[in-house]
Amino acid sequence: MGKTVVRFLGTGDAFGSGGRLQTCIYVDAGTTKFLIDCGATALIGMKRFGIDPSGIDVIVLSHLHGDHFGGIPFIIRETQIIAERTSPLTIVGPPGLEERIRQAMKVFFPGSTDLKTRFPLDFIELPARQPVQVRSLAVTAWPALHTPGTNPLSLRIECAGRVISYSGDTEWTEALIEAARGADLFICESFEFGRTIKNHIDYQTLAANKNLLDCRRIVLTHMNDSMLENRSQVDLECAEDGMTITL
Ligand SMILES: [Zn+2]
Repeated sequence: MGKTVVRFLGTGDAFGSGGRLQTCIYVDAGTTKFLIDCGATALIGMKRFGIDPSGIDVIVLSHLHGDHFGGIPFIIRETQIIAERTSPLTIVGPPGLEERIRQAMKVFFPGSTDLKTRFPLDFIELPARQPVQVRSLAVTAWPALHTPGTNPLSLRIECAGRVISYSGDTEWTEALIEAARGADLFICESFEFGRTIKNHIDYQTLAANKNLLDCRRIVLTHMNDSMLENRSQVDLECAEDGMTITL
């Protein structure tokens, strides 16, 4: 079994806290190379850390907020203008993803050729709690508790004999226990440090429920200023832009 390499390209929130890039995680699972979320800064992250965008086979999206999917118009636009991509790209995520990406493309790049590409581009909507095979990946989604209209999901991705789970953006929900079960790596948002808020997990709630998460390793991401300022009181591992984990 080959190694699966996870590289955090962006570990920040929507507001640039700590100067971090927006959510984007690159995974090299041997036969399939993919992104988990694709924030508006994704292309910058890929180039900063030496990842070739045309080598990405699949993008898995947790929800339709700009700091999680807003990088896609830039990736597509690059292929329309300067990049010589020919290999297929599959974008997987919540219901409505294709139309939302099409709208973003129109707003960001008026007069562009819409979603026309020189390579095969296809979209797969994830049903709840049912694994979907995408190339060599098996992707399962659970409904998450986040801003309505973003169709939020928590995700579990099986690849090359490893399991990577990801909370997406969500309040604490029992679905996280299911999504994280047996994971080699559970990437969990921890937006806020000490205050229970709407739409996101705070660190205190996560720490209180940690024992319910049956996974090998938890890494926190999507941290706002309150999290970053209180890092010395955080007992769980926190992601950094550029951090690499080999599974
Ligand atoms: Zn969000």
